[in-house]
Amino acid sequence: MKFISTRGNDTATGAQAIAQGIASDGGLFVPECFPEVSKEELERMLSMSYAERAATVLHKYLDDYDFDGLKEACEKAYAQFDEGDAAPLVKIDSSLYMLELFHGPTCAFKDLALTLLPYLLRKGCDICGVKEDVLILVATSGDTGKAALEGFKNAPGVKVMVFYPNEGVSKMQKLQMATQEGNNVCVVAVKSNFDACQSAVKEIFTSEDCKEELKKRGYILSSANSINFGRLAPQIAYYFSAYLDLVSSGQIEMGEKVNFAVPTGNFGNILAAYYAKRMGLPVGKLVCASNKNNVLTDFIRTGVYDRRREFYKTMSPSMDILISSNLERLLFELSGREPKRIALRMEKLKQEGVYEIYDEEKEALSELFYADYCGEDETVETIYEFFEEYQYPMDTHTACAMYAAANYMEKAKDHDTPMVVVSTASPYKFPQDVMYSLTGNDIKDSFKAIKHLNITTAMKVPKSLSGLRDKPVRFNIVADKDKLYAEVLKFAQPKK
Ligand SMILES: *Cc1c(COP(=O)(O)O)cnc(C)c1O
Repeated sequence: MKFISTRGNDTATGAQAIAQGIASDGGLFVPECFPEVSKEELERMLSMSYAERAATVLHKYLDDYDFDGLKEACEKAYAQFDEGDAAPLVKIDSSLYMLELFHGPTCAFKDLALTLLPYLLRKGCDICGVKEDVLILVATSGDTGKAALEGFKNAPGVKVMVFYPNEGVSKMQKLQMATQEGNNVCVVAVKSNFDACQSAVKEIFTSEDCKEELKKRGYILSSANSINFGRLAPQIAYYFSAYLDLVSSGQIEMGEKVNFAVPTGNFGNILAAYYAKRMGLPVGKLVCASNKNNVLTDFIRTGVYDRRREFYKTMSPSMDILISSNLERLLFELSGREPKRIALRMEKLKQEGVYEIYDEEKEALSELFYADYCGEDETVETIYEFFEEYQYPMDTHTACAMYAAANYMEKAKDHDTPMVVVSTASPYKFPQDVMYSLTGNDIKDSFKAIKHLNITTAMKVPKSLSGLRDKPVRFNIVADKDKLYAEVLKFAQPKK
């Protein structure tokens, strides 16, 4: 399978697309076409393990990787999840399900891709004959950073550097990153928001000067953000797996449609659902849920993307984003794959902060997606009410998706199509906010909140979170947003 840039001026093999991370023209790599999965193939996948299903989906895009190698890597990656189940589906009532993607090493859905990306990247570099070490730069709104650090720690030939908004992540997320172990990692808090981190990293990626200087020092750059196709591909797999689980447990017939509701920030997770649909998975509506930063809700409802608005810090920080980079991949498809149109709009977004799509694109968009957003009060209410009714504790991000899903079902009078709400983080990652939602108690200390949350919900506490209490802080660098390249140069010392 060949990959092409959304802006028209770069092509790559799968291995190159992953090793490079972002296209040289500033666009994102997308597959030349969508590989089909037939009904017969879906039938065959029913009896497979999660790892085998994932390898099967991955190999359709990454046909320059050998299947057995992919399968072995998936088995290794997903063995790190609780009870070896990477994506369990939990039934709530007759047509409502939760797809729990938080049972990995860092308790958020990013683990599904980032436990596998080290293999995809190392193998990709081997296939391409890359001799240099790989320097991975990550901009994070909280969860990607930790998952990338954990996935790549001590990996030979790789260095990982993470930038997060100093005031824009939860206490738990900050502690997870600041205490990271490993001899090849660095964490920097940035005196700005996520969008600034992401822009600065993209800037370094596409600067010839930066690339040249780092090459002199013995490094090539790559990305562990969802702009890298290697992040996106493993995410497609869990939509397939959730569907297959519904069929194999007799909840639906093969071929019946299923809706998914996804808490959305950078549009990576929900884009993977769209890719699954394009590959032939019977997906109905995709519910795109935002928090108070509702730029995507407005876009899907009106066709105007306007980032000129106030940025809010919310209790679902991983969705506090005004520039959703993966939207570019969807726009590319909606436009009928017109790279010039995409390049113009992205330039307009950069210069003026706004662009508008054509009427036929708007129609296609609202056919595919339902969009809604969940304010802070609604987040609290949703967590509380859902626990009251079903004794099921949700994290703050998942609550946004649940809220949007309920609104969709009500408005569209669609109560019969199975709705799968994608649960992206463990409630223990945001223990204060979840505790406040459930009981009204404002607990200052994260570990006290974890303890109380455990008493209130009887849900098992992940060791990776409770164990943070005893770990020494290793990183306390704070940098201005225009000084990030200097930090990169400090970290990426020339190799002898
Ligand atoms: C990253 C993240 C999201 C947003 O996912 P995108 O792929 O960026 O849309 C939602 N919830 C949690 C918990 C996350 O970590």
